[in-house]
Amino acid sequence: TPSLYVVATPLGNLQDLSPRAAQVLGEVGAIAAEDTRHTQRLLDAQGLRKRLIAVHEHNEQAAAEQVLAVLAGGASVALVSDAGTPAISDPGARAVARVRAAGYAVLAVPGPCAAVAALSVAGFLPGGFRFVGFLPPREAARRARLEMLREDGDNLVFYEAPHRVVECLADLAAVFGSERRVLIARELTKLHEQSAVLALGEAVAWLEADANRRRGEFVLVVEGAPATEPMNAEAERVLALLLAELP
Ligand code: SAM
Repeated sequence: TPSLYVVATPLGNLQDLSPRAAQVLGEVGAIAAEDTRHTQRLLDAQGLRKRLIAVHEHNEQAAAEQVLAVLAGGASVALVSDAGTPAISDPGARAVARVRAAGYAVLAVPGPCAAVAALSVAGFLPGGFRFVGFLPPREAARRARLEMLREDGDNLVFYEAPHRVVECLADLAAVFGSERRVLIARELTKLHEQSAVLALGEAVAWLEADANRRRGEFVLVVEGAPATEPMNAEAERVLALLLAELP
């Protein structure tokens, strides 16, 4: 039966395209892609020729109708973005919702995702994590957003562009305090992959020490807020006395 396959593609290293992803891309009737030229290069590397449907922020509804037309004709469609997992800080969610509403199956072909890759190399205690994605570009809005996240005990995952990474880390230190740890990961799976765990107070100096450290695509993971202060000894003594009185 015709279905929509949501296919994760490599973040950089083409070897990360899963065998199943390659098979699905080879079998579908059309591929809905964020940037058709970018996806064409991936297909060229696989020796594939496919009809491409452009799906970007500004035409998702119209693109979804084209996807539905292919499905109605009896062929499956794959949805991809430029890198990583579609619909994660990328277009795709509206098209997926439209296809679901029309009653077709939507199937995951999971794989690379920069947020998950960064979390996996951070070494921070696994609890929950919160995917924040891109922060607002303007400082006031960015700080306001960060203030809302300050007490969160979950690890926080941010995407950032190279031209804003220094100011972003300065704001992270200002809001979360200089002691909190951050993972700075750049160019994951690529030739110049690098990642470091630092105290937020050291992060700007680390970036400024070497221009190469400010190049490429970044994921920042800030460790969650420490649990609230444990009870002090006196409070524990009083609580024990009170509990002893309970029936
Ligand atoms: N959908 C993608 C995913 O699953 O990760 C994310 C798309 S979003 C438009 C692009 C952002 O993801 C970049 O600005 C960067 O923050 C992050 N990113 C993508 N590839 C990366 C890589 N190889 N290394 C580090 N960050 C990356």
